[in-house]
Amino acid sequence: MKKNILIIPGDGIGQEVTEWGKQVLEVIASKFGHEFAFDNAIMGHTAIEATGNPLPDETLEKAKASDAILFGAIGHAKYDNDPSAKVRPEQGLLKIRKELGLYANLRPILLFDELLDASSLKPEILRGTDILFFRELTGDVYFGEKTRNEDNTFASDLMNYHRYEVERIARKAFEAAQTRGKRLCSVDKANVLETSRLWREVVQGLAAEYPDVETEHMFIDNAAMQLVKNPKKFDVVLTANLFGDILTDEASQIAGSMGMLASASIGDGTGFFEPIHGSAHDIAGQDKANPLASILSAALMLDIAFGLQEEAKAVTEAVDQALKAGWRTSDIAVNDTPADRILGTVAMGQKVI
Ligand code: ATP
Ligand code: MG
Repeated sequence: MKKNILIIPGDGIGQEVTEWGKQVLEVIASKFGHEFAFDNAIMGHTAIEATGNPLPDETLEKAKASDAILFGAIGHAKYDNDPSAKVRPEQGLLKIRKELGLYANLRPILLFDELLDASSLKPEILRGTDILFFRELTGDVYFGEKTRNEDNTFASDLMNYHRYEVERIARKAFEAAQTRGKRLCSVDKANVLETSRLWREVVQGLAAEYPDVETEHMFIDNAAMQLVKNPKKFDVVLTANLFGDILTDEASQIAGSMGMLASASIGDGTGFFEPIHGSAHDIAGQDKANPLASILSAALMLDIAFGLQEEAKAVTEAVDQALKAGWRTSDIAVNDTPADRILGTVAMGQKVI
């Protein structure tokens, strides 16, 4: 298979970890006989420094022309201290999502048995958890009309959904469920919200087209509770923008560390694969960042963008073997991890390779 992959390391630890996602893709290409051509582009603070623009035209053109994008992170401490800064790294990210028509954010909660002790939940509750979230990205209360009255005693955010927005992400979620545990849980608040009643109606309508998938509907309040009570009960979880924002952050704690979680944003065009963590300036440039989230983002790319399930599994297994051998970065080390098993970014990347 021939593919063009764009690497956008971005800022901070993005520049350190993305290298390992890329190297893993190179190894996969040579082992499985694929031709992956790589190109690089800048974004975020790095791009502002170089060009004044967080998403230079050249980066956007390369992104549109590529088959998939491996992204690191963007951000710089200086913007935290200056919330009114007009040109900001995150503008680049919002713009590229819009330009690429990315409407579904996929976040797998993949738990490695070896890291059960790194989570704050009990091992017997966690063991066997494997959830894939589909969070809608283009609709909901984020983009509806926002108003406030003149004396600041009232504010309103309109929650909107179009049938087509629900349908296109629901189809992706059903298709994913078919390749996984064949269970789909659609999360809404249909007892209260009209948007949720439309959401549920659309999902129910589609369920008939995917008879091999067991479909369930759950209210968001119950889902938030079940997620920590019995995370194993979930396979694919499909939900709207706001509910997905909250539920996926809750779920990230199941896996123990931000440094372990990958995500994919997909839509009509080029898919965008990135760790869920940010640029982490507290540890940037110190060879401390966990590269596994970037490596697992590369696995997601192989699986979702290219349909290379066997190759994706090889990457996940390599990560699993490195962990089984006892190797840890400091974010996933626990009290009794021997000091000589705690590695930096480069050494951990090499173990997986
Ligand atoms: P940004 O503004 O870029 O989103 P942030 O301040 O929100 O950055 P994150 O980058 O999201 O911070 O990280 C939050 C915390 O998790 C930090 O203390 C960081 O050191 C830690 N962290 C994040 N990613 C990793 C990683 N890959 N390996 C180890 N620690 C990490
Ligand atoms: Mg952050």
